[in-house]
Amino acid sequence: MTVIQKKSENPIAHLSAEDIEIIGKELDTIRQEVRDSLGEDDAKYIRRVIDVQRKLELGSRAALLVSMFPPAWVVGTVGLSVAKILENMEIGHNILHGQWDWMRDPKIHSTTWEWDMASPAEQWKHSHNELHHTYTNVIGKDNDLGYGIMRVDEDQKWHPMYLAQPLWNFINACFFEYGIAAYDLELGKNLATKKRRANPKFRADAKNVLKKIRNQATKDYLVHPVLSGPSFLPTLAANFTANVVRNLWSHSVIMCGHFPEGVETFEKKSIDGETRGEWYLRQMLGSANISGSKAMHIMTGNLSHQVEHHLFPDLPSNRYAEIAPRVKDVFDRYGLTYHSAPLYKQVASAWHKVIRLSLPNGWLAETTPKNAPAQVVKLARMTFGGKQVRRQLSRVAA
Ligand SMILES: [Zn+2]
Repeated sequence: MTVIQKKSENPIAHLSAEDIEIIGKELDTIRQEVRDSLGEDDAKYIRRVIDVQRKLELGSRAALLVSMFPPAWVVGTVGLSVAKILENMEIGHNILHGQWDWMRDPKIHSTTWEWDMASPAEQWKHSHNELHHTYTNVIGKDNDLGYGIMRVDEDQKWHPMYLAQPLWNFINACFFEYGIAAYDLELGKNLATKKRRANPKFRADAKNVLKKIRNQATKDYLVHPVLSGPSFLPTLAANFTANVVRNLWSHSVIMCGHFPEGVETFEKKSIDGETRGEWYLRQMLGSANISGSKAMHIMTGNLSHQVEHHLFPDLPSNRYAEIAPRVKDVFDRYGLTYHSAPLYKQVASAWHKVIRLSLPNGWLAETTPKNAPAQVVKLARMTFGGKQVRRQLSRVAA
């Protein structure tokens, strides 16, 4: 895949400027209808989820007090993993979007909520709500696209260092919350020069992140293990496991939202003077859903409805399932592809893309069992042969 503007078959070529604005108006109508109907049932929903999450975390931590007994360790670790996932996905992410601000409950509000995650809520809200949701899938603008460490589009020049990107992606998945904190701080950019390192805003933000990480680590790796007494080590291991499980899960879900094959990416200059209709269209083309059961939707924080979430990031997540058929109908009527597939398929597709783009353009598609030895030799020449050989061999491939 390449950025949409350079595709030989542009998937939106059949739409007129007027069509695009009508699509925007239809989506605005759906949004307004949901906003007008918000009420007691919705409020009950989020309060119930928060209540269940707290009880589950408390129960799991209680089981871990005696986690030197293996069954207690298993029950406590599974429970804590699920509790941490719920806390980040269906509760934290959505409250911090302001989805529940209409309730005017100061305790469940985007301005007061803090979450179980390395990145402080205030910083994450800036990089997620303001940057990722505004510049969705715009290469060079949307940090979520490859987290600044991966090659995410064929248009980006291939370099041998990208061969390691499947490994980086896996490491990033295991320690995802720290990866997010690092890129919320724009570490790569801000550590690059002395002037940027000395910037008071950057220094204050970095201090906040370190404080948050220290608090999180103290809670999971000191206070709770100490409370467990003789079960100190098993409790510490359980907390570490639950954090890694939560990180792997949230990384997978988020990768499914914008990275499966077929989801479009955009050029920086393409968003100059973008209209509301065009903004909606970019969200439609740049997002993908995960199909599945109600439990799956809750565990993904309803990011399984990534398309609906990106169209209406401030609508409460419990409403996405209900409007999904109407949104899909808009896609169908305007000849657009509504990407949706089960979790295992979207995860496989996203990983396929990570691996495909870690290799020179076309290399994976051209490789068959028969020509594999020759292809490996070609890859080795491109890896070790320097710039010129690389340029020459990629020209042959093109
Ligand atoms: Zn979001």
